Amino acid sequence: MLFPTGHHGAATPAPVVPSTGRFQPLGLDQVRITGGQWARRQEVNASATLTHIEHWLEREGWLGNFDLAVAGGLPGGRRGREFSDSEVYKLLEAMAWELGRRPDGDLEHRFGAIVRRVAAAQEPDGYVGTRFGRPGQQPRYSDLEWGHELYCQGHLYQAAAARARTGRPGDLLVEVARRSADHVCAAFGPDGNQGVCGHAEVEVGLAELGRALGEPRYLAQAALFVDRRGHGVLADIEFGRSYYQDDVPVRDAEVFHGHAVRANYLAAGAVDVAVELGDEKLLDAVAGQWARTQARRTYLTGGQGSHHQDEAFGDDWVLPPDRAYSETCASVGSVMVSWRLLLARGGAQYADAIERALTNVVATSPAADGRSFFYANSLHQRVPAEHVATDEVSKRAEASLRAPWFEVSCCPPNVARTFASVAAYVATVDDGGVQLHQYAPAEIRAALPSGEPVALDVVTSYPDDGHVEVHVVGAPAGDWTLTLRVPSWSSSARVRVDGAPAREVGPGAVEVPGPRAGGVVTLDLDAAPRFVVPDPHIDAVRGCVAVQRGPEVLCLESVDLGEGTRVDDIVVDTAVPPWEVDGTVYVRAGTLGASGGGWPYTTTDDVVPRPRPELRDVALVRYHDWANRGPATMRVWLPVL
Ligand SMILES: [Zn+2]
Repeated sequence: MLFPTGHHGAATPAPVVPSTGRFQPLGLDQVRITGGQWARRQEVNASATLTHIEHWLEREGWLGNFDLAVAGGLPGGRRGREFSDSEVYKLLEAMAWELGRRPDGDLEHRFGAIVRRVAAAQEPDGYVGTRFGRPGQQPRYSDLEWGHELYCQGHLYQAAAARARTGRPGDLLVEVARRSADHVCAAFGPDGNQGVCGHAEVEVGLAELGRALGEPRYLAQAALFVDRRGHGVLADIEFGRSYYQDDVPVRDAEVFHGHAVRANYLAAGAVDVAVELGDEKLLDAVAGQWARTQARRTYLTGGQGSHHQDEAFGDDWVLPPDRAYSETCASVGSVMVSWRLLLARGGAQYADAIERALTNVVATSPAADGRSFFYANSLHQRVPAEHVATDEVSKRAEASLRAPWFEVSCCPPNVARTFASVAAYVATVDDGGVQLHQYAPAEIRAALPSGEPVALDVVTSYPDDGHVEVHVVGAPAGDWTLTLRVPSWSSSARVRVDGAPAREVGPGAVEVPGPRAGGVVTLDLDAAPRFVVPDPHIDAVRGCVAVQRGPEVLCLESVDLGEGTRVDDIVVDTAVPPWEVDGTVYVRAGTLGASGGGWPYTTTDDVVPRPRPELRDVALVRYHDWANRGPATMRVWLPVL
């Protein structure tokens, strides 16, 4: 049944609010992150990144395109790529979540000013877009393969859903989105244009706007788009139709494939449709694809996509670290999919994947000051980057230093909207209690579906250590259960309730009988640094190890090696486990002798054993902190001595 008057409530201020499922999300008004890495990220996002993005959207004319549309200045004066409108909408979504998290008069004013410029450019039939359809421009929807018109409007819907759910259901942005969605339903409905957009996104946008506004037509349109794709409705292109997932219907695919951002956005929309329509087969299909993608097509960091040419997934096991594309947006998309599957079905593996991608890709993209970003996230940088100017647009997605803005600048606002809403991924509720999925210092002030209030304070230095305390400030009446995720990276874990003896628990979701108010549940995870060994099928890193500490992947950066030593020459002695001193992790490593400089291959008969190199202690750095000390080379996977 669609949108029952049941427990979820369309007004929950969270990015995904299904009407049914295993767990109910909590809103930004129910979970507040009070400290630690995510609080710092949120603070920088609010104080620096939002303004930074707004500045660049203005400077590059992407905001001005809406003014030109009103003034009749298109197409001549239009600037930016065909999808530049979407970055404006993603900024609006980020601002809406930030305003939902913490009211701010100045931000509210800036938000309203941008919305008015977008609204002024909306056409009488509801269409919004600055690239097509006006005199002198290509007709609307004449290039579904590359035009991104529905993609852009999908981002508008996600922004509007954020606004509607953060207490502004009658906001101008919501009305603009509603009229646009009505237009799309009319234009692409059962009797309309039978096409789909070359870049999935409108599906997830329509589904969320439909949920937020209680409008089942939008969900039905999302379902139509999901089912239409995969039957060759788009033109064949040099990358093949798999690039935009138009080669196989979603419900028949075995694994995520093609362009990694498109694949994840489509999967997220498919989960939304499956959940709302009770389509268990579709949900099974996406869950199966997710599992195989995690097992065979995902980097240690949670990054996805190894093809640079088409920003796409490689085949199974094609995960070369030095050719990792691992676009920031692909990991934002993977978080979207994992979160929807977690809400639909439960499963600690989904929360593990969210933590991995957030910690090691999404948090790697922005510099500490929130004003420059990685687009691609390589796991092995062989050549130091050139300095990136802080006031120039980068033409290259692959730049190995963070850049302030890109010609294709999808990633910065994607990071911003994710950080502004990251508290939504911390916890959920169900009839039986509360589930903690991500660990951060936090205040949870929520209610169970029965209406019973529950108040928890999470006290922890995670991920700096693995000690997590959940202080029960207010407990529901009667029996209840606190469910804690035990991350798969923790080799051991212990749970203790108040003064009772600790018990060993395995990885997964651990249920703890909920204590009364004043009680404390303690979870101790093993966050010591450790070697990680790859599946030998991943040929590109066979014979290598990585080092992980808690959820954080570490890497070796050349600035820690001293003059004359290259990261490519380092080999690691795995007989000595990695160790930590004052927050820095070290490994025992040696330096390979110089290559002979000639033909680098020999027959096995001619192999001369290499002399054992002298060993020394080498410091590692958190992968998400790399490249913060100027141009450097770097590697995550380290060859074994
Ligand atoms: Zn991107």
